[in-house]
Amino acid sequence: MTAQLIDGNALSRQLRAEVGARVSALKARDITPGLAVVLVGDNPASQVYVRNKVKACNDTGMHSVLETWPASLSEAELLARVQALNQDASIHGILVQLPLPAHIDAQKVIEAIDPGKDVDGFHIASAGALMTGIPGFWPCTPYGCMKMLESIGYNLKGKHAVVIGRSNIVGKPMALMLLQQNATVTICHSGTQNLKALTLQADVIVAAVGKRNVLTADMVKPGAVVLDVGMNRDDAGKLCGDVDFEGVKEVASYITPVPGGVGPMTITMLMVNTLESAEKL
Ligand code: NAP
Repeated sequence: MTAQLIDGNALSRQLRAEVGARVSALKARDITPGLAVVLVGDNPASQVYVRNKVKACNDTGMHSVLETWPASLSEAELLARVQALNQDASIHGILVQLPLPAHIDAQKVIEAIDPGKDVDGFHIASAGALMTGIPGFWPCTPYGCMKMLESIGYNLKGKHAVVIGRSNIVGKPMALMLLQQNATVTICHSGTQNLKALTLQADVIVAAVGKRNVLTADMVKPGAVVLDVGMNRDDAGKLCGDVDFEGVKEVASYITPVPGGVGPMTITMLMVNTLESAEKL
């Protein structure tokens, strides 16, 4: 079997066009959704991410503010900037790009964001809402994965989903979203024994580890759906995921590529969250 590709670029184009139409409708009511992106320091990967987020925002007709600060910015100064953005009526979403410099407590900064503007979905109020199944901002990467499953009409009810990775921004919220759709969920991590025995039982596998070839063809049940969140570099320096794409695509029914899979969907869901924050007004 050769798996069908779930094309994150194509799905993003479609969803961003829908966002653009809803932005126009809001503008007709004199509301322009606004996203503030705050970058501290000069991490090259973060610089690329924030540029892409701001560009996506502008492409959909939203307002965006990019604040860049030197790595020497103090925690108190950053908290003061977050407070100012909390009070800025033109801003509906605030994103503080992670990682932050070591002298800044990232969790403290995230908790300072008004939960009503927490479009990254990392605030404890957003995490609690997801955990208890009440409406709130969902973290963009797992939210994008759910949209990818929806795009192929996949019904998770009663299916076994295995999530590899348990970070607060990907693995754990991913597991909760799958659970909410009535999948039976297994969460794996660095202490998991015999990962292969678990993944071989899975109808859906989400790999969110950050290591190449965590998932190989011999670990996948024929016909499983495989979503690859990982972002790594191969020996030639080319972007690749956690999944051995060439091998696994011969076993899976659907697979996401890297690049062009979950990555663009993450930014798309940030646009959706920012739009929906403004629509609540
Ligand atoms: P993270 O915080 O480093 O978490 C990695 C998780 O993988 C941890 O829970 C860790 O277990 C687990 N793990 C490590 N080695 C393992 C192994 N051999 N077997 C099973 N589990 C293992 O990373 P993250 O922030 O969740 O990100 C994961 C990957 O996704 C990274 O490559 C990141 O760049 C990428 N990412 C992509 C996007 C996107 O938009 N495409 C967005 C976010 C992240 P322990 O908890 O036991 O340490």
